[in-house]
Amino acid sequence: MKKHYSIAIDGPSGAGKSSLARRVASALGFIYVDTGAIYRTVGLACYRAGISCKNAEAVAQILPRLNIQMRFNAAGEQRMYLDEEDVSSRIRMPEISICASDVSTLPVVRSYLLDMQRRMARDNNVIMDGRDIGTVVLPDADLKIFMTASSAARAQRRLLELQAKGVRANFEDVFRDIEYRDQQDSTRASAPMRAAEDAVVLDTTNLNLEESYRLLCRTIKEKLGVQPVG
Ligand code: C5P
Repeated sequence: MKKHYSIAIDGPSGAGKSSLARRVASALGFIYVDTGAIYRTVGLACYRAGISCKNAEAVAQILPRLNIQMRFNAAGEQRMYLDEEDVSSRIRMPEISICASDVSTLPVVRSYLLDMQRRMARDNNVIMDGRDIGTVVLPDADLKIFMTASSAARAQRRLLELQAKGVRANFEDVFRDIEYRDQQDSTRASAPMRAAEDAVVLDTTNLNLEESYRLLCRTIKEKLGVQPVG
């Protein structure tokens, strides 16, 4: 029996991974797994517990007590629960982005979350987005994509997203957060963000969302022979 298909999409924040992966997953009938949301939920739990997200000992102590669930609603949309509370919107706040990046440097957190991510790919056809999916989580993925764009383009997109949600934000702060996370995510010792050797690199700096989507669909068609419909 054919195993399930998996597509890994890695890259920095704001490159378009989540919007594009969500749309392509729906067009292919795959499940879209946003792994950043899981790190964000751990970050939120630490933030609420008042512990430093970089304190490996303190974070390791609360990890076994956390009740983190990833669930999919009827529309196939991923929701994150912390102690049965739906925190899917709360984890998107800028202060939680930084906490997520901080906790994700800790090997104890990465190994704690590895099983949850691999199980999703074992039981479903998935498009999974993150930083280390092609390199660590799913090294045998059928297709690996590394999606990137200039920091300025990514900050501008993130700013518009936050503003659309009614969050007050300015370009300088968003740009600084993006650079902080890029630097930390790509230089950490444990599973740093990088393109897998066999990844296709897609640069969306000069592409709008629709153009990026077409490029992604073309890449999937070329490499996997399946055409996303929609
Ligand atoms: O993708 P998103 O920006 O929501 O991820 C939040 C943070 O979680 C990232 O900055 C990164 O530090 C961390 N992360 C990670 N590995 C993943 C997904 C996210 O380290 N697979």
